[in-house]
Amino acid sequence: MTLDDYLREAEVAHGHLCAGQVLGVRMAMVGLEKLGIEDPRGNKVDRKRLVTFVEIDRCATDAISVVTGCRLGKRALKFRDWGKMAATFVDLETGKAIRIAAKESSKALARAMHPEIESKNQQQILAYREMPEDDLFTQQWVKVELPPEEFPGYKGDRTVCADCGEGINFRREVERDGRVLCRACAGEKYYEAV
Ligand SMILES: [Zn+2]
Ligand SMILES: [Zn+2]
Repeated sequence: MTLDDYLREAEVAHGHLCAGQVLGVRMAMVGLEKLGIEDPRGNKVDRKRLVTFVEIDRCATDAISVVTGCRLGKRALKFRDWGKMAATFVDLETGKAIRIAAKESSKALARAMHPEIESKNQQQILAYREMPEDDLFTQQWVKVELPPEEFPGYKGDRTVCADCGEGINFRREVERDGRVLCRACAGEKYYEAV
């Protein structure tokens, strides 16, 4: 698959072609290349090898998901809400992991490369396609501790919250004063009952 092939797929999945799609597709392609994973969505060998951490919930995240095949529903896509245009690609087979971040300077470079294009989005779409990898990204080999319950295929015991009675998967329960609670009942609610 070429950059163009992936971009076409990303455009369909995401709903439009934008600078974030180009960034996300290229970021994921670099990650796969560095890990030596050729076809994470297709052949059996590579399909369950990859877990991807994304650090932003913007356009690029969709594109990364398209290229890697890592999805939230497969537990292969992990979201860390850090507001950073970065992702870490983890090879479960070898234990190798690489974190790739978009350089902040790439925006200014896009302006310098294509001052003739008025639309910032169009300017970046074109420039991010052409820009050398090293101008676009920083890369760093990292180590990611992934406990068993974080693996895509993990099957664990299911427990029930002592307060609300709802079921909890994947060891996400917490213990408070000897009681097993869900994270909401333990005080991490993001919603209020009305
Ligand atoms: Zn977009
Ligand atoms: Zn509960």
